[in-house]
Amino acid sequence: MIDLSQVAYSYGNDALLSDISLHLAPGSFHFLTGPSGAGKSTLLKLCYMELLPTAGQMSIFGRDVTGLGRDDIARTRRRIGVVHQDCQFLDHLPLEENLALPLTVSGRDETAEASNLHELMTWVGLSKRATALPPQLSGGERQRAALARAVIMDPEILLADEPTGNVDWEMSLRLLQLLVELNRMGKTILVATHDLNLIRAAKSQVQTRVLRIANRTLIHAGADL
Ligand code: ADP
Repeated sequence: MIDLSQVAYSYGNDALLSDISLHLAPGSFHFLTGPSGAGKSTLLKLCYMELLPTAGQMSIFGRDVTGLGRDDIARTRRRIGVVHQDCQFLDHLPLEENLALPLTVSGRDETAEASNLHELMTWVGLSKRATALPPQLSGGERQRAALARAVIMDPEILLADEPTGNVDWEMSLRLLQLLVELNRMGKTILVATHDLNLIRAAKSQVQTRVLRIANRTLIHAGADL
């Protein structure tokens, strides 16, 4: 699904990431961990082609990303769902309309998709909040809404940047449960988190691999955490 070979990335002169090699197989569940500032978000941005490697090879769905034109990148991105760290919404639009936006933007028939949208909102436990405006949502509701929005286009890959960043442990476990269910449905998942307890909780439910960024490169961590 996503392959990186000896990838490097730098924002300026100093390399932030170097010699990164990573293979995300279809249906795999990876955690990406490491201290704040290590480059977890940057690596996710590379996987979403928001940034392109400054060195090395990278392919997504079997295609070299450096050879992709703008349309190819847009088409490839439609197969990838993203939960951003700050999960922003349009504050003046009710939640259900925010969630339907990716459908509208891609020209899908919203009416035809209405039952999918309703099903998705029920799945994340937000069916009763459909008409709420984003500022009225709690932190946990926002995170679940962000997850619903990321998967509404039925992506093959889900990238999530600290999806449990601002919620309590109970809500973290609930979000984890949703991620595990998505993985069981066959989605390839990469979650950046500094929360080792979340990774431990996941390991008891599903086969996961842990990647850690240390000293600018990626270490494939062993079973122990
Ligand atoms: P993490 O997600 O592990 O906290 P990030 O990928 O967000 O790490 O950031 C890694 C480093 O890159 C930080 O030092 C950050 O300040 C720097 N950085 C992130 N984005 C930019 C940018 N757009 N321009 C310059 N430096 C950046």
